[in-house]
Amino acid sequence: MSDYDVVIVGGGPAGLAAGLYTARMNLKTLLLDRGPLGGQLLNTELVEDYPGFESVLGSELATKMGDHARKFGLDVREFEPVREIDKDGTTKVVRLDTGEEIRTPALIMAAGGLPRYLGVAGEKEFQGRGVSYCAVCDGAFFKGEELAVVGGGDAAVEEGDFLTRYAKKVYILHRRDSLRAQPILIDRARANPKIEFILEAGVKEIVGNGKVQSVKYDQFGSTKELPVGGVFIFIGFVPNSGLFKFHVDHDEAGYILTDRNLQTSEAGIWAVGDVRAQLTKQIATAVGDGTTAAVAAAAYVSALKDAARA
Ligand code: NAP
Repeated sequence: MSDYDVVIVGGGPAGLAAGLYTARMNLKTLLLDRGPLGGQLLNTELVEDYPGFESVLGSELATKMGDHARKFGLDVREFEPVREIDKDGTTKVVRLDTGEEIRTPALIMAAGGLPRYLGVAGEKEFQGRGVSYCAVCDGAFFKGEELAVVGGGDAAVEEGDFLTRYAKKVYILHRRDSLRAQPILIDRARANPKIEFILEAGVKEIVGNGKVQSVKYDQFGSTKELPVGGVFIFIGFVPNSGLFKFHVDHDEAGYILTDRNLQTSEAGIWAVGDVRAQLTKQIATAVGDGTTAAVAAAAYVSALKDAARA
C-alpha cells in the first residue's frame, strides 16, 4: 500500500515543475526537500535567462514556482532530508532522516547536487571564515574587501560580477588560459573595472589566521600569493545521486543516465534537472525535465492502477 502516487525528491525548478504537473493531473504527490524550496534558485541573485522573466530575483522565482505547484495540490515538506531510497519489489521506499518511511510506485529524483570542493589546504579550515560557495548568501559579509573567485565557468564569472557590488576588487582565478563561461557573461565581467582575471593560475592553498588572509597559486612556474579577505569557489557541481541503495545507471561523474522520457535504468524512477546527465544546467531545461518526467510518471501510475483493477 503506497502513501502517494508520486514522490519527488528535491524542490528546485525541476522538482517543482514535476510536482505542478503531477498534482494538476490529480496524482497524489509529495515533494521532499532538505531545505527551503528553490534549490539553486536560492543561490542566484538575478535570473535573466528564463523565458518570460526578463529579470527576476532567484528567491522570487522560487516562491512563485512553489506557490504555483501548491495551488494544484502538491504536498510539500521542506527541511525534510531524505536519507536513502530503497525498493521493495516495484515499490520505491523513501527513508527520511527522521526514520519515517514513505512508499510510492513512482519516484522523481530531482535532488540536484552540491558544490565541488577544490581540495586544497585551508579550504575546509576556513569554510564559513572566508571560504564560501555562495555569493548571494555570503557576499554582503565582504563589503569593501578584495576577494578571490576560483573557476572559469558561468558560475564563477557571473558570481564574480555579483560580488563586486560589495567587494572593492574581485580576482577571478582560472586554471586555464581561456574561460568556459558564456561570452555574454565574460563581456560583462571584462567591462567591470572591479574585476581582474588571473588566468593559468592553479590555486594551491588558502592561507589565514582565524579567517582567510590570502590565496596561494602557481602560475608560469612560480608560486604567488594574493592577499584577499575571502575566497569564493565555483568549480562545478557534484550530483546528489548517492541516495539510491541499489544500482541506478550513471556516468563517470555520478550524473544519472535516463531514456528519452527521463526514466532511469530502474522502472518507475525518473531523474530530472541537475542530477541528470545532460548538456546544460539551466532553469528552463530543469523545468522541461520536470514536465517530461511528470507526464511519463502519470502514464506509469495509471497503467499500474489499471493493472490492479483488472
Ligand atoms: P562548470 O561549467 O562545470 O565550470 C567549472 C569551472 O571550474 C571550469 O572552468 C573548470 O575548469 C573549473 N574547475 C573544475 N574543477 C576544478 C579544480 N579542481 N580546480 C580548478 N578549477 C576547476 O560549472 P559552473 O560554472 O558551476 O556551472 C555549472 C552549470 O550551471 C553549467 O551548466 C552552467 O552553464 C550553469 N550555470 C549557468 C548560469 C547562467 O546561465 N547564468 C550561471 C551559473 C551556472 P576547466 O574549464 O579547466 O575545466
